Amino acid sequence: MAGVPDWVPSQIDWNQPSVARIYDYALGGAHNFETDRRAQDAALEVFPHLNDAARANRAFLHRALRFCLDRGVRQFLDLGSGIPTVGNVHEVAQDIAPESRVVYVDHDPVAVTHARSMLADDPNTAFLHEDIRAPHRILEHPDALRLLDFDQPIAVLMVGMLHYVNDASDPQHLLRDYRARMAPGSYFIASHLTSDLPEMRAAAPFFDDSRNPMTLRGRSEVEALLGDFDLVEPGVVFTVEWRPEVPPGEHPERSACYAAVGRCR
Ligand code: SAM
Repeated sequence: MAGVPDWVPSQIDWNQPSVARIYDYALGGAHNFETDRRAQDAALEVFPHLNDAARANRAFLHRALRFCLDRGVRQFLDLGSGIPTVGNVHEVAQDIAPESRVVYVDHDPVAVTHARSMLADDPNTAFLHEDIRAPHRILEHPDALRLLDFDQPIAVLMVGMLHYVNDASDPQHLLRDYRARMAPGSYFIASHLTSDLPEMRAAAPFFDDSRNPMTLRGRSEVEALLGDFDLVEPGVVFTVEWRPEVPPGEHPERSACYAAVGRCR
């Protein structure tokens, strides 16, 4: 199509908002369409801190990664990795430990196209175009088996992701499938949008027409989901409260997302 940027894959649905592109827009990126911007702008009307929440989520991801790297983890499985933006997992990890290996997974076509072109020259990374609700396809994928040694500690990430797994998809069972392949000393890094905040409950329906409607959950539900892991301090808290490098401010709840890191025994 004339005038279509070269990062736009051919199988795009121009009319359906995509959470990957909405999140890109929230973070100030350029890989999004009018339909995505309209959904996010409408949600911002009821919850003006939503873009700050996206940035806080990203900052949590970086702190949690460094936490795992400091404990010797050198391999990462990033589930629902999104459209590449500043500070991707392999960039943070390889900056600290150049030998780090990263497998990214997402089902969004823009994320796939953009990430594959970005990672083409890095033999220590791979991008799988898969649905994270099919753990066996991911865990048995030749690229995952090539890059990840499941006999050694690994960090599995579901950051800004778990609220896209609805109850019908049985998130508890899904986590158990991934958990079963994680060696002792592995970490699970998660963040999850809250149902405990009225503004977030008001904003969520604006994304109902997207490919990934949200299932918000409360703190105790998120704790229960992560019950098979030993949660490292401070447990399940808002993203800005998880081992912050700067004071979290007076309204940590405005970061709208619970964060936690769990360890496998
Ligand atoms: N993890 C990144 C971060 O925190 O910066 C990106 C988070 S973004 C909000 C959520 C991503 O999850 C989107 O890119 C979306 O396409 C992806 N996603 C949602 N459901 C998915 C599924 N079932 N399988 C694969 N990817 C999924």
